[in-house]
Amino acid sequence: AAKSDPDGSYRFYDPNIQDSRAERRALEEALRSALDKREFELFYQPILDLGTNRMWGCEALVRWKHATKGMIPPLQFIPTAEESGLIGPIGDWILEEACATAMTWNLPLKVAVNLSPVQFKRRDVYASVTKALTLSGLPAQRLVLEITESVKLTEEATASLRRLKTLGVGISLDDFGTGYASMSYLRSFPFDKIKIDQSFVRGMMESSGSRAIIKATIGLANDLRMSTTAEGVETQEQLNALRVAGASQAQGYLIAKPMPREALEAFMTEIQNPQQTARAVA
Ligand code: C2E
Ligand code: MG
Ligand code: MG
Ligand code: MG
Repeated sequence: AAKSDPDGSYRFYDPNIQDSRAERRALEEALRSALDKREFELFYQPILDLGTNRMWGCEALVRWKHATKGMIPPLQFIPTAEESGLIGPIGDWILEEACATAMTWNLPLKVAVNLSPVQFKRRDVYASVTKALTLSGLPAQRLVLEITESVKLTEEATASLRRLKTLGVGISLDDFGTGYASMSYLRSFPFDKIKIDQSFVRGMMESSGSRAIIKATIGLANDLRMSTTAEGVETQEQLNALRVAGASQAQGYLIAKPMPREALEAFMTEIQNPQQTARAVA
């Protein structure tokens, strides 16, 4: 219902909408100050190469270490960061931090970084990525960018991705199979890798449908000369079945949860020791 404001104008009176608008504005303000106060932190989740049984690299996953609310997961603030445009500077920080951290590792492992569709629309992605590589000194071959189908592959976006590929940066298609245009998307760009969404892996032991989709995706990737990473691997049975199906890599809680960079160093030292690897993920 519309009601009259003291100033005589009409507005729709809905306390919930008012709250959520005010909340969003407050969150935006908090994000802005979080960037200044350096409250964002990257966690790293190891990815296992199933061919060699060694680490392939890690995916960088952002968290917000809030002074009073504790650790806030990305899905609770990335959408607001995207709406407000703050994903631009936050995304640049993520790229720079991930590249700089990968430079400190003793092994030449890859680092995968998620890119938001808004970074493509509003920012020169090529410039952001090359700046992060130059600042850190990380060889382009060690950086992999993850994009989803929500990135519109306009001519400009495709041109940026092609230039990055020429430099040696890898491009992965994240959450494959969950969007509306997976097949035409695969045709629009020569991705290096397909990440099989965890929703397929989660049900794979119980559902022959999920297993069929995984098998077909791996076959398709092979024919397109793309590699595959299965996401959300939580059980030994899933890992075994994915090996048999021919997935290139596996990522999930069975191998390791996302962890702070300090914990990752200890993990990597342990996992590169073949005996330990055998115990953890044989
Ligand atoms: P994503 O890129 O598909 O990342 C994988 C998500 O699955 C991560 O959630 C990870 O913690 C979770 N995961 C990994 N293994 C398992 C498992 O075995 N079981 C279960 N249940 N979950 C698992 P997270 O870190 O909460 O990130 C969620 C999403 O937020 C990401 O999905 C990505 O789309 C977005 N995101 C994360 N970090 C960034 C970032 O730095 N920039 C942008 N633009 N988006 C990000
Ligand atoms: Mg990802
Ligand atoms: Mg994913
Ligand atoms: Mg996902």
